Amino acid sequence: MTNGKSNYTTTDAGIPVASDEHSLSVGADGPIVLHDHYLMEQMAAFNREMIPDRQPHAKGGGAFGHFEVTHDVSKFTRAKFLQPGKKTEMLARFSTVAGESGSPDTWRDPRGFSLKFYTEDGNFDMVGNNTPVFFVRDPLKFQHFIHSQKRRADNGLRDHDMQWDFWTLSPESAHQVTWLMGDRGVPASWRHMNGYSSHTYMWVNDKSERFWVKYHFKTDQGIKCMTQEQADEMAGTDADYHRRDLFDAIKRGDNPTWTLHVQIMPFEDAKTYRINPFDLTKVWPHDDYPLQEVGKMTLDRNPTDFHSEIEQAAFQPSNSVPGTGFSPDKMLLARVISYADAHRARLGVNYQQIPVNAPKTQVNSYAQGGRMRISNSTDPVYAPNSKGGPHADPKAFPEDAVWEADGEFVRAAYTLRPDDGDFNQANDLVNKVMDDAARDRLVNNIVGHVSGGVEEPVLSRVFEYWKNVDQAIGERVEKGVMENRQKAGK
Ligand code: NDP
Repeated sequence: MTNGKSNYTTTDAGIPVASDEHSLSVGADGPIVLHDHYLMEQMAAFNREMIPDRQPHAKGGGAFGHFEVTHDVSKFTRAKFLQPGKKTEMLARFSTVAGESGSPDTWRDPRGFSLKFYTEDGNFDMVGNNTPVFFVRDPLKFQHFIHSQKRRADNGLRDHDMQWDFWTLSPESAHQVTWLMGDRGVPASWRHMNGYSSHTYMWVNDKSERFWVKYHFKTDQGIKCMTQEQADEMAGTDADYHRRDLFDAIKRGDNPTWTLHVQIMPFEDAKTYRINPFDLTKVWPHDDYPLQEVGKMTLDRNPTDFHSEIEQAAFQPSNSVPGTGFSPDKMLLARVISYADAHRARLGVNYQQIPVNAPKTQVNSYAQGGRMRISNSTDPVYAPNSKGGPHADPKAFPEDAVWEADGEFVRAAYTLRPDDGDFNQANDLVNKVMDDAARDRLVNNIVGHVSGGVEEPVLSRVFEYWKNVDQAIGERVEKGVMENRQKAGK
């Protein structure tokens, strides 16, 4: 830190200090004195440098840039940042899911793909992944899922047996697990992967007409992946490879870009579509709902302070601006609540005043006080009031991103549609998308992973799970794992 014009070291209060190297002591050889408050400040700040990791998505990196609309989607949404020609400043953060903040970037895992658009109607966030689907479809299972991917209680180790135990008891995971064990389970870099909203969201146009939408940010660098062998080697030689790659690319002016496409579903289609369009374990096949181009995202500015700009960046799907909205996806609705709660727990109640999270628009909230608050709105401090304070205007900002629902309170799975089977789309991925070489790599990756500690009764369920995805893949997995077990004398 510099104290303005000069470059002299100061205390955090800006007072010049006399030494960067010596504590205050009673003579050169005597004890240090208690009133060396500068030493105390240095030690105390150091002891408090670390903030809690994100739970999950702890290891990541990010950069700033902009999003520019290149195609007219105004008939689907009135969101100001999505109007033709509009350019909006933004922030992106990429991450792994299960690893801690120092863990290798190239562990096989989905990647977070979080975006914050600083729009003129406040912040719009998309907390996406590099996969179009997810492991579970009910938020009550999410915490258990993440526990199963992290560390055991007894030895603090990750445990493949625990991972497969959860997955095979949760057949809805099959599509995402197939995706994860395939080529895209380890991207070559963050620049070489796509980002998907995964969830279905709503768009609303200026006539209050509603549409369901899925976002696809397709990399303009091309998809590139690492094999398991390459990823393992990189984990040992450069654990921060993906963070470094993004930073270095932007530093040399090789700014990565992604083209945003959307799939649009007319509002009424959702009622009769053959797949539940709000089920997070399913994609909408492109043939049913083709991609429509919207615009381009460019990342061109590195952070200068990783802690304040990336580590403290807080993305939340509740940041949804007029012209956009949520959907009946139960996972999304839970995330709308959970993310803001996570930020309050990790960063404090006033995390939205941290510059990277603050909107670039005026804030007229009536929220007050709390730890680390740096500014409050002025009087009047209540609404309604007759003192000229901010007032909501439902005519200017109608809450029209809504849908109808009724029924008794129940704890139940989604109602099944004709093509809602847990294994259908996993099978499509194996047979329609992968070629023979990709299927070979898929089998190798599964065999290697399962051979790393999965035991009965989970093991038999793993073979059954893969036979449900595809009989031939299941048989090959069983053969490969049993051969490895024989070699290991099991
Ligand atoms: P399409 O043939 O139209 O699309 C297949 C898509 O698969 C491609 O567009 C590509 O997505 C993606 N893909 C290619 N290789 C891999 C891989 N190794 N791992 C994961 N995804 C890959 O078929 P459908 O739309 O009918 O979908 C068939 C299957 O494709 C689905 O079951 C799903 O698993 C997968 N998929 C579908 C997506 C969708 O939104 N419809 C998106 C991504 C995957 P991209 O163009 O986005 O790079």
